[in-house]
This record gives sequence, C-alpha cells and structure tokens, in this order.
Amino acid sequence: MHFDPKKFDLFFLDMDGTLYLGDKLIDGALEFVNTLKSRNKKIVYLTNNSSKNRYSYLEKMKKLGIEAHIDEFFTSGEATAIYLQKNHPKAKVYLLGLNPLKQDLEEKGLRIINGTTEKPDLVLLGFDQELNYKKIWEACDWIGEGLPYYATHGDFNCPLEGGKVMPDTGSMMLMIEGSTGKMPIVVGKPNRVIIDMACEKHQVSLEQCVMIGDRLYTDIRLKETAGIDTILVLSGETDLPMYESSPYKASAIYPSVKEIIAEL
Ligand SMILES: [Mg+2]
Repeated sequence: MHFDPKKFDLFFLDMDGTLYLGDKLIDGALEFVNTLKSRNKKIVYLTNNSSKNRYSYLEKMKKLGIEAHIDEFFTSGEATAIYLQKNHPKAKVYLLGLNPLKQDLEEKGLRIINGTTEKPDLVLLGFDQELNYKKIWEACDWIGEGLPYYATHGDFNCPLEGGKVMPDTGSMMLMIEGSTGKMPIVVGKPNRVIIDMACEKHQVSLEQCVMIGDRLYTDIRLKETAGIDTILVLSGETDLPMYESSPYKASAIYPSVKEIIAEL
C-alpha cells in the first residue's frame, strides 16, 4: 500500500540534517514547514542536541526564517530533565553539559553541584562542548563509585555543512566507558520515553505520529523502539547504501523534506 504522509496529525521533525545543516536551511525546508502549518498539522521539533534548549532553538529557527512556538520544541535535554524530575526528584547532579541544559534541569528542580564539595546523586552527560579533563576525571570518579549515570542522547557525531561533523555525546560515552566500563541510560531518541512524553503533552496517540529524520540509529530506529512510523530523508548523514545495510528500516524514504510537500 502506498505510504500516505498526510494521514498523520503530528509530525516529529528532526532538525540537524533534516531542516538545516549547520546554519544553512535545507532547500524546501521552509516551504515544507509552512505547508504542514497550512494543513493544520501539529509540529514537534525533536532534537537530540542538548547543547541548546528550546529557547535557543526558537532563536535559531527565527534566524533561519522559520516561525515557531516555544512549545513546539522538544530537546533531549528537556526530556531528560522531566525524566530525572520524575525518577530522582530534587537530585544533586554532576553535569557534563552547557548552560542551556543546566537551565532545563534547574527549571525542573534539579541542582547542579559542579564546583562545590557536595556529593552528587547522579551524573548526567550532555553535549558538552566545553568538556575538559577535570570534568571527565570527576565524572569517571562518581560513575566508578556506582552513582546513577545518564546521558541526554547517544549520537556519535553532530552533522555540519559540507559533510563535516563535530564529535557528539555518544563519542564521549565511549571515552567514559573506556575508563569506568559503564554506559549510561540514554533518554533521547531512540528511547521511546521522549516520544511518550511528547504524545502525552500534545494529546495524540502513537498511530497519529510520524518521525522525519536523517539518522538511522536514532530517528529511524524509533519505528522499532516506539512503534511509530518513520520517514528517512537523505539530506543529512545517511545515503541509500548506508540505509540498505542498516538493520533499522523506515516506513518511507525521500531525498529531502522538499519531496514530501506534494503529498501533504
Ligand atoms: Mg539529524
């Protein structure tokens, strides 16, 4: 049966590699988003990148010419903050992460104890672009002692324009594993927790949702982990040969979001 994108009510949209690369909008992305809006579809910009939060993403999208609402953004950082609030209320957190993530956590009543003499209740690893040896060492000490250990997401690289990448949280996880032998609980995509939270917030069922993204082991894998339909776009890090050899299968594949417009 032909795959019909217009049957969905809520569109989870990945951003890096799906709507833009670095600071450059992907051709057709603006028209795609505007078409979804004109069809009264709900949009959730769902990103694993925890170096920014919903406030910084709202700004970024505005600069790129996409008008969005703050409630339309859901980052792995916000999801992790909600998750930790539920499972470790008011916890003291040793954080490897930037200020936007710190803000997400503090909004949910968690306390960051870096730089104090207090013992944390848990360690959280985010996309820390200011990672240094001291932080890695201290985090490894706490993790080695057996403290609960979480990561906002497990992506190995963050895509940039021109095929370049930045090493991301998944790569940092491997470094910490090298020292401690431990891997974290990952809250972001493909953990279904992030989808369940968003569905609850927007009052939709899983069947009403579709995820559009460029990454196989996070976006597309949600079909298996969360049971939602997924659309692979080839505008980011995945090409067809990579898809064909991957265990993660999408409900449909398009060159980019531009080619989905005609079917909405
Ligand atoms: Mg992506």
